Amino acid sequence: MTGHTGHIVTLVLSPFFRFDGPMPGHPPGDRAVILACSVRSLREYILDAQCGCGRCVHYPLGLMAAGGLGALTIASLIVQLRCKNCGQRPVRVALLEHGAAGARGIPGGSGWIVPLVGED
Ligand SMILES: [Zn+2]
Repeated sequence: MTGHTGHIVTLVLSPFFRFDGPMPGHPPGDRAVILACSVRSLREYILDAQCGCGRCVHYPLGLMAAGGLGALTIASLIVQLRCKNCGQRPVRVALLEHGAAGARGIPGGSGWIVPLVGED
């Protein structure tokens, strides 16, 4: 008897990965958590980027993941975003539950929004 019980593999997951299956209706975490999440793990949500020139673009993270960016963190994705109008980086970026999140006057159309960059 060696006292060893063999290999006990303890999976020490980063706290970020417990948000793989977030409850509907709740953001997957706060700003810091979301920035460290992979694009893939948030593929059901939308990244909303607004440029100083007024252009506003929704990036469905599912599409970004399908396009080969799934392993990127949200933070590293954001640094790569450029406005197609003026080439500047977005002044505001937020994670949206869905495309209508934050829209006013739409019954049931509200959803959560987590500001990531340039929050007021
Ligand atoms: Zn622009």
